[in-house]
Amino acid sequence: MTPPTHDLAELDLPEIEHLLGESGYEAFHARQLYRWIHRHGLTDFDEMTNLSKDLRGELKARFTVGRPKVVMDQVSTDGTRKLALELADKRRVESVFIPDTPAMTFCISTQVGCAMSCGFCLTGKMGLVRHLTAGEIAGQVITLATTTGLLAHPFNIVLMGMGEPLHNYDNTMKALRILHAEEGLAISPRRITLSTVGIVPGLDRLAHEPLMPNLAISLHATTEEQRTALVPPNAKYSLASIIDACRRFPLKRRSRITFEYVLLNAVNDTPEDARRLAKLLSGIKAKVNLIPLNPAPGIPFERPSDERVDRFAQILADRHLTVSVRKSRGRDIRAACGQLIVEGGSKKSAAQQMALLLH
Ligand code: SAH
Repeated sequence: MTPPTHDLAELDLPEIEHLLGESGYEAFHARQLYRWIHRHGLTDFDEMTNLSKDLRGELKARFTVGRPKVVMDQVSTDGTRKLALELADKRRVESVFIPDTPAMTFCISTQVGCAMSCGFCLTGKMGLVRHLTAGEIAGQVITLATTTGLLAHPFNIVLMGMGEPLHNYDNTMKALRILHAEEGLAISPRRITLSTVGIVPGLDRLAHEPLMPNLAISLHATTEEQRTALVPPNAKYSLASIIDACRRFPLKRRSRITFEYVLLNAVNDTPEDARRLAKLLSGIKAKVNLIPLNPAPGIPFERPSDERVDRFAQILADRHLTVSVRKSRGRDIRAACGQLIVEGGSKKSAAQQMALLLH
């Protein structure tokens, strides 16, 4: 069944085929439409020149094509670009373009705000306003690609913007299907990384997805007590249960799970923490991505010195773990990890929302 929507950007290709079929149109028109919307980034039926004028007129009368709109575009001194995107209901999300060499990366959001309340993350402070729809998640990619001129070029996608992707599971996976379709941007799941706090039932569902993105787990602590203090969902989905889920997660040959670990000065960055982390990950095909904290007003932690970061990394490397230290990009425009926020959060406090989620 095709969901009842007038916005064609919300539909995957089989749904558009079904919808057009119901109205008596030929199936190939669905593929033409899909190419215009997703591969060429168009939202105006009048520009879809290989559709007959009559068909364009009929489509225009019945449907729309939604697309997040750029309302702010800031470029950092390091080339990172942060866009504020406005959605149909005027809510905003932020998305980031990181022009790394050689890969170009888009960092996109899955929710307006976030319910996870991690103690070091600004987005967590605003609470969850709402989930993004599949069309809005995929649409961010199209808007970013159009704005940066990369629509016809390869790029990577990281689901590391605002929100927790596994808390908005169905819309996130549908967005990946929309982006993957051959008639659209044809993005391979190997170019996509999903980053999560580790919602265990979501991880187990993900393990059975035909379209399997790379997996990154936001670990950030090595004891249950400390992780619950820093990453509140740990009260429900414990460190131990996340590690178990990772152990049973099916990995393709040569692929590994990334474990993200934000380093907070004198909180979770001691040599004992590093040794415990190495032990926790033993036997898992893992790589560790250390993220020295991006500080912000209202965040009660400090970024450790480079020496502390290096010492932590060295202990992991000595134990044969692959370690990288994430360069923080775009800090001057608050585009770095954990710095995405849009004013005007929800009415419920973050703590209330956590309580609802963990209920
Ligand atoms: N909700 C997902 C994606 C969010 S952000 C998740 O938790 O994985 C991507 C990464 O940035 C996460 O690992 C997150 O914990 C980290 N992060 C959040 N705030 C940060 C900050 N102030 N400095 C550095 N990294 C931060």
